[in-house]
Amino acid sequence: RVRTRFAPSPTGNLHIGGARTALFNWIWAKKWKGSFVLRIEDTDKERSSMQFEESIKNDLLWLGLNWDEGPDVGGPYGPYRQSDRFGIYHDVLEKLKDLGCVYPCYCTVEELESERENQLAKGLPPKYSGKCRNLSDEERKKLEEAGRLPSWRFKVPQKPGKVEFYDEVHKHYALSYREVGDFILVRSDGIPTYIFAAVVDDHYMQITHVIRGDEHLPNTVRQVLLYQALSWDPPSFAHIPMILSREGRKLSKREGAEGISELREKGYLPEAVRAYLATLSWAVEGEDFLFDPDAMAQAFDLCSISRSSPIHDENRLRWWGNKALKQKDALWLAERLMAIARERDLKPSCSSTTLASLLPEALSDQATIIEVFDSLIWLFMRPQKSDEMPLWMEELAKELSVVGRWDKEEIERVLKAFQRKLGIKAKEFFHPIRMAITGSHWGPPLPLVMEVLGKDEVLFRLKQEN
Ligand code: GLU
Repeated sequence: RVRTRFAPSPTGNLHIGGARTALFNWIWAKKWKGSFVLRIEDTDKERSSMQFEESIKNDLLWLGLNWDEGPDVGGPYGPYRQSDRFGIYHDVLEKLKDLGCVYPCYCTVEELESERENQLAKGLPPKYSGKCRNLSDEERKKLEEAGRLPSWRFKVPQKPGKVEFYDEVHKHYALSYREVGDFILVRSDGIPTYIFAAVVDDHYMQITHVIRGDEHLPNTVRQVLLYQALSWDPPSFAHIPMILSREGRKLSKREGAEGISELREKGYLPEAVRAYLATLSWAVEGEDFLFDPDAMAQAFDLCSISRSSPIHDENRLRWWGNKALKQKDALWLAERLMAIARERDLKPSCSSTTLASLLPEALSDQATIIEVFDSLIWLFMRPQKSDEMPLWMEELAKELSVVGRWDKEEIERVLKAFQRKLGIKAKEFFHPIRMAITGSHWGPPLPLVMEVLGKDEVLFRLKQEN
């Protein structure tokens, strides 16, 4: 059975990179009717917070990426927060001690730092020298008596050749043993490192596929060594390329690395964001099916993930935003718009059903529900009086005031007849009316707008004074 996991560190909000990782893990589990696990990697107590954990969970749920096992919901392989699993890591560390695969390292931060600087000065890639690897018992005892607390390092095999593994995206990946320094598993304060804790958890949680960002490839090399030392079967790996900005740089706040909650606040529909995320690294054919999670799962395959970095492009996100709005049920959208009005203390001048009937005519290039709302703001608020009301407006108002059946056909007939009488071009005629009624240059057909607003309101808006 396929088991995948998303393992965020609750040290910040969910961004598009993390959300894409979560999505790919979620679809992969869904495709094989497996389980998707949420694991909170909160070993860094200083930087982790419950607030970030909550916001990450909210954003995942908003995107529709629900988990089968995780904190709060529980599951057979819990606990699902690393801070509740320290006992397990320490047991595995004991096992590694028995196997002779680790050693205590007494180097201080300052010593390690100066070692690093020396190496860099010589033009060498920094790598732990292995200074504490062969200390005698005597030397160890001395250091401990001097009050030094050890961290525990993994003994990287000293042999020729390479550590190799297969990655679904990068295919064969290899690094020579020589390039890998002995790395820390448990720090001197007893806190396990990410490299170690993730291996222990992935093993005990029976994770079959690890899908994550390719910035972790160097960690994976070390993790593979750990699996070997413990005689554990490693999971399959798929490292997805980092998302870049349009300038080709790592996404940063400034270059549009927006949080998922910011996209939600902007009013994007979750299915739009989800479909957009899917297209980052997955060259999908066809489009509409990306709104349907089951269809998406069927089509998705790890080996179809592209190796080159995708570019985050807000225009493409907007395109998906627009497409999602257009395929949404109109009544559902109308109710959402009504809810936005309520939040803003605005009263609609029509019912949700009427608003829904207007929507097919009101949607053009908006990407978010807020943009739809703003384009329909005239339904909820009177526009400012425009200064340039043509003189004939008063007369038009008079003619409209005697219309008996206030529907769009009848209104259109009266408007057209009036335009003919004036003998002016359609644009010169309709534009000022639209501005007076809606305060905007663009919108659904005027007769429809007028029908929806109702006669009294239209007459009020056409009056010059007031
Ligand atoms: N906590 C790690 C991160 O947020 C997880 C990496 C992994 O998936 O193994 O990058």
